[in-house]
Amino acid sequence: MSRLRRGLITATVLLVSLALVLLGTNTLMNSRTFQLTGEIVHRVDTDDRVVALTFDDGPTEHAEEVVRTLDGLGVRATFYVTGRELEENPRMGALIAEAGHELGNHTYSHQRMVFRSADFTTSEIERTDAAIRETGYSGEITFRPPNGKKLYILPSYLAEHDRTTVTWDVEPDSAEVSDAGTIAEATVRQVRPGSIVLLHPMYDARTPTRDALSSIVESLTADGYRFVTVSELLALRPSR
Ligand SMILES: [Zn+2]
Repeated sequence: MSRLRRGLITATVLLVSLALVLLGTNTLMNSRTFQLTGEIVHRVDTDDRVVALTFDDGPTEHAEEVVRTLDGLGVRATFYVTGRELEENPRMGALIAEAGHELGNHTYSHQRMVFRSADFTTSEIERTDAAIRETGYSGEITFRPPNGKKLYILPSYLAEHDRTTVTWDVEPDSAEVSDAGTIAEATVRQVRPGSIVLLHPMYDARTPTRDALSSIVESLTADGYRFVTVSELLALRPSR
């Protein structure tokens, strides 16, 4: 074999290996069901017809409408809030807490939590915990990474601090902003016992998500579902 040919083969093998490593890293970073260390939950294995509604980002002024809608439906949910938005809208945070909902940690500044230092990771989580406690909320605070992304440093922090990473198995408004009917229909079709539904009701463009809420709750209730917070859902897991 010529030296040139051997060199080409070596280069190809290296490039393919690098591509596989990158692909693996990407898959791992985005997985909703697996992380290298600590506990990650995307749904709970149960026959009980229970479901957890979770709302990401904010709080913004739209939290008021969401809380009012949930109140009218007699449903409690879990709000994954960012520390920065909570500090900007303390009244909304207090409103969510006073209404008996659960607050979860969605980092301080909603940046990708991969390839970040341990100090950055710690500060993003702990500043947000502190902002959540400022609302008067005293329950368990689970964690959800922005865009579901995590690799090693973040899961290590969470594992060390005995915190659960919570993702989702139903995401009816993530791909594109569609109409309320489509969002509600997709939710009801995909929910199964123990599901965790991710919704984004907090920004101006998300009127369809806010409008879908009542119909989601009414249809699932008619199907025999009851609504629980994330920590109530976690408590239903088979004993480990
Ligand atoms: Zn988010």
